[in-house]
Amino acid sequence: MREKLFIDGRWVSPAKGGTFEVIDPASEAIIHRAPAGTADDIDLAVRAARQAFDHGPWPRMTGKQRAAVLRRIAEIILERKQELARLEVMDNGKPLPEAVWDIEDTAGCFSFYAGLAQEMDAKPEEVIPLAEPRFSAKVVQEPVGVAGAIIPWNYPLLMASWKVAPALAAGCTMVLKPSELTPLTALELGAIVEQAGLPAGVLNIVTGLGPDAGQPLSEHPGIDKIAFTGSVPTGAKIMAAAARDIKNVSLELGGKSPFVVFADSDIDKAVEWIMFGIFWNQGQVCSATSRVLVEESLYPALLERLVAEAAKIKIGNGLDDGTLLGPLVSRGQYEKVVAAIERGRAEGATVAAGGGRPPGLNTGYFLEPTVMTDMAEDNFVWREEIFGPVVCVKSFRDEAEAIRMSNDSRFGLAAAVMSKDRARAERVARAFRAGIVWINCSQPTFTEAPWGGYKQSGIGRELGRWGLSNYLETKQTTTFESEEPWGWYIKE
Ligand code: NAD
Repeated sequence: MREKLFIDGRWVSPAKGGTFEVIDPASEAIIHRAPAGTADDIDLAVRAARQAFDHGPWPRMTGKQRAAVLRRIAEIILERKQELARLEVMDNGKPLPEAVWDIEDTAGCFSFYAGLAQEMDAKPEEVIPLAEPRFSAKVVQEPVGVAGAIIPWNYPLLMASWKVAPALAAGCTMVLKPSELTPLTALELGAIVEQAGLPAGVLNIVTGLGPDAGQPLSEHPGIDKIAFTGSVPTGAKIMAAAARDIKNVSLELGGKSPFVVFADSDIDKAVEWIMFGIFWNQGQVCSATSRVLVEESLYPALLERLVAEAAKIKIGNGLDDGTLLGPLVSRGQYEKVVAAIERGRAEGATVAAGGGRPPGLNTGYFLEPTVMTDMAEDNFVWREEIFGPVVCVKSFRDEAEAIRMSNDSRFGLAAAVMSKDRARAERVARAFRAGIVWINCSQPTFTEAPWGGYKQSGIGRELGRWGLSNYLETKQTTTFESEEPWGWYIKE
């Protein structure tokens, strides 16, 4: 576990020498003291990234040359897969097979953007047809400059890759500020890019607390773009900070995503996807389908089955064989989720399953998979993101009501629908006001497809070619091709 920040290709102690505790959420033990970067370190990192962008080789390389480094990063990640996955479990709590999957996806993300970097060489400029024959115009895309990335703790290394890989592919340089709850694998990424031969200053990694390191990064005049994933209140602060010097901003924020299940659905498949939609990663997933809407005639049988299956989920340390639900990431998150359940109950909801600490697990931030029912549409748990293994289930009468209830949210990140009637599923999918829609499943995410939300769920899209565009500026060049004088001021 690393004790230094990664700035300008070197491992350096934080300017103020501080550390913060890294806690294993399964044992509550302090497993590391990570370097606490502050404004001075952020300033150093931004200067290094600026120098690397303005004068270094990275933005001037061909896409193919950048792709070679990105592919090497992916290879090293895969070589270190088991070790990185175990670090992720100790830091975040998730079950080991999920962490292994995350690490594979992280490597996949670097490989995917290596491909896009290489493709950029094939279309260096686009000629734009003009109605005016005396002029020609062409468009090129260029890296946006120095990017700042601030990321959350739910998929620590994977969330880093969603920003680092496209930024590097585009030719940007970057300062990455991981979450203080999960700094371990992000610091390893420093060692990985070093080994892969990334030039000094292209990626700088500063761990630290949000207000001490994240805020100075979002306010720093030396960065051109800020990319953030996290909560809505922090997203609003970052946007306000960026407004001061009109930084380019992309935001991936929260959600309260619906899952509409029609009565013609296969009950086994519906329960399986509902559970995957909310219990995977302990429900700490921005796109978690935390509101389940079931057509009236299926509701009683589905609820009974869901409650029975939720009770069978094996809860424990993410490193133990067979664990399907680990602890929540931190004491703070555990307390927040428990308080949300209590508030929901106080406002009239029923806890149909779970709702408390699993018997026998007295240490660690463990919470039973929880199913809540009978809440009004204005109940806190129906409206607000809980970010834990808590699913709210309600019935609906018809398609129109399901669509109305689904879209009645300030969020619009994701939505899911299940039905054997494909035309109806497609119709509902089109009616959802959300950026990510699943039919007959919930949560599968592919690097090739765009990711992001409507409404208060964010601005912009990550992943796919959309993710690359986040880090590109568009430049048009117009040329006067005629030998004739322009003749506006000076007449012949
Ligand atoms: P958070 O907003 O508390 O923290 C996210 C990051 O912002 C952390 O690195 C933190 O240190 C930093 N930060 C905190 N205060 C800051 C400030 N004033 N200025 C700059 N940076 C600051 O969120 P979290 O608790 O880490 O993550 C949970 C939230 O993230 C949930 O609401 C969830 O919906 C959202 N999330 C969204 C997505 C998505 O793709 N849309 C993915 C994961 C998580």
